[in-house]
Amino acid sequence: MNRLAPPVPLVGSVAELKRRIAQWRARGERIGFVPTMGALHDGHLSLMEEARRRAERVVVSVFVNPTQFAANEDFGRYPRTLEADLDRLARVNADLCYAPAVEEMYPQGFATSVTVGGPAEADLEDRFRPTHFAGVAVVVAKLLNQAEPDVAVFGEKDYQQLLVIARMARDLDLRAEIVGAPTLREADGLAMSSRNIYLSQEERRVAPALHRALVTAARRIAEGEPIGHVMGEAREEVATAGFAIDYLEARHAQTLARVARRHDGPTRLLAAARLGATRLIDNIAVEEA
Ligand code: AMP
Repeated sequence: MNRLAPPVPLVGSVAELKRRIAQWRARGERIGFVPTMGALHDGHLSLMEEARRRAERVVVSVFVNPTQFAANEDFGRYPRTLEADLDRLARVNADLCYAPAVEEMYPQGFATSVTVGGPAEADLEDRFRPTHFAGVAVVVAKLLNQAEPDVAVFGEKDYQQLLVIARMARDLDLRAEIVGAPTLREADGLAMSSRNIYLSQEERRVAPALHRALVTAARRIAEGEPIGHVMGEAREEVATAGFAIDYLEARHAQTLARVARRHDGPTRLLAAARLGATRLIDNIAVEEA
């Protein structure tokens, strides 16, 4: 680890965040913002590099947001590794890390919710995590109002989330331009995720099968094979590998509407599947004709 990189300033309050950002803005510098839940991996870092290409200053938030976890989910055991995260942020020269406490984001008496429709009601993640996007929307709306960045970068890894946030930012006239960035993968194709550390050795060996099935299905659809048939076989392949599938579907890349034929529009294949207690999500584009 490069200990020579200068440390990244860490702030925990909205007031201090605003004060630092105002100084940069007064000098005419553009602010790029990358919201994360920490346990940073190279996928997160690639978002920061994207933000760096678009702005003079890169601000990263690290906040494990309780409102986007349901009671039966992994909020309590989600990895929290702020020290290591700060080291990684130093290596990509982030300008500021904002890591508020839960009470800073949700003080006593907090009573506001954000209702999201459109892509948030696509019958994908929302079918299995019905309160998830409301929690994401409220925290992202708060973060974007707190930092007021020029640009905010989100991963295509969470494709439905990216569309939900882009829709919300447009609908609520938030200042930030919302930018999507491609998914970074391990050498064997597994999408990088903070949750991959939950996988046992055997599960880790099996995990790339999800991406493999998506790649095969995308190629076959691009070659003109019928979507319904191809997706049926992809589901079989993933189930045979040992996954319990939540969904594995072909959708319109912008609206998330179901697509029956390739010519229904740009197509995205999206999947969520469980290996033991770990839930993996992934998605890829079908190459356009
Ligand atoms: P998280 O910390 O899981 O909330 O993710 C923070 C941001 O990083 C989100 O915009 C994610 O979509 C993005 N992200 C997560 N994994 C990856 C990955 N493998 N490649 C690129 N971006 C990612």
